Amino acid sequence: MEKIRVGISQCLLGENVRYDGQHKQDPYITGVLGQWFEFVPVCPEVECGMGVPRKRIQLEGRVEAPRMVTIETRNDLTTLMQAWCSRRMPELEGEALCGFIFKRKSPSCGVERVKVYSAENEAPENKGTGLFAAAFMHHFPELPVAEEDWLHDPGLRENFIERVLALKRWRELIADGSGASGLVKFHAHYKYLLMAHSVPLYRELGRITADLKNRPIEQIQADYYERLMKALALRTTVKKQVNVLQHMAGYFKKQLNADEKRELHEVIERYHEGHVPLIVPIAILNHYVEKYDERYLKNQYYLNPHPMELHLRNHLD
Ligand code: SF4
Repeated sequence: MEKIRVGISQCLLGENVRYDGQHKQDPYITGVLGQWFEFVPVCPEVECGMGVPRKRIQLEGRVEAPRMVTIETRNDLTTLMQAWCSRRMPELEGEALCGFIFKRKSPSCGVERVKVYSAENEAPENKGTGLFAAAFMHHFPELPVAEEDWLHDPGLRENFIERVLALKRWRELIADGSGASGLVKFHAHYKYLLMAHSVPLYRELGRITADLKNRPIEQIQADYYERLMKALALRTTVKKQVNVLQHMAGYFKKQLNADEKRELHEVIERYHEGHVPLIVPIAILNHYVEKYDERYLKNQYYLNPHPMELHLRNHLD
């Protein structure tokens, strides 16, 4: 299976690029996710010329527009880093990344809660974003991003990976040139996964695919893509999952006998009450999809996920 290209803060791969010549290897990322991801490493501080080892830096000033300053020698490196970011973003466009994993708390790479020190106030505010991470998210607003510790939380990890895979599938759809018919098929295959995130956005996406004659396909695809990534970024909840499971159970009204129907609804209810994980009702539905050759559900990414998604779902409540 072709690996998925994902950018990463280089120190997380175990490379000695930190200010002190050390690394911050994350064994889950290199050992588990590395089976599916082809990592594109970036170390902003090394690439912009700060070297290894280097002086420690921190963010200072206003949280919305912090300066990057060396702690002991008071050297302002903001312009150096920002100029490098401006040169690097167009290069990263060419890497066709499906996501980026950032090192948390770093004044260059942290996505959120990076310390910002102000001159007047000794205590830092934990509300900053590293300069590279901020430039990256501004340049690629829809690209899925995560900090390494998010990947140790089953829900956040699944959400990140689901979006990475959606982007990969989206890129394949655009590359195959199937246009309007491909978009309709894509939307159909994503129906229940989208509903597990947001029924209103699923409907909005449906309206886009229902009006394919009045605008250029590139415009329609751009609108669809923006809302697709917005929908998938919303967290699923047990209530939303139950709604999807019940819709799917409805496909088997005619085939199942009274005992099988009761058993299926009981399992969904047990999931609802937190007694069994999501994978249990999904496994039963998949069994009926196979048994009764239910074509529409067979193509649903919700029931027929990437092996990586399948593996991760085992840990979801
Ligand atoms: S956190 Fe970012 S800048 Fe710091 S060592 Fe890691 S990759 Fe380099």
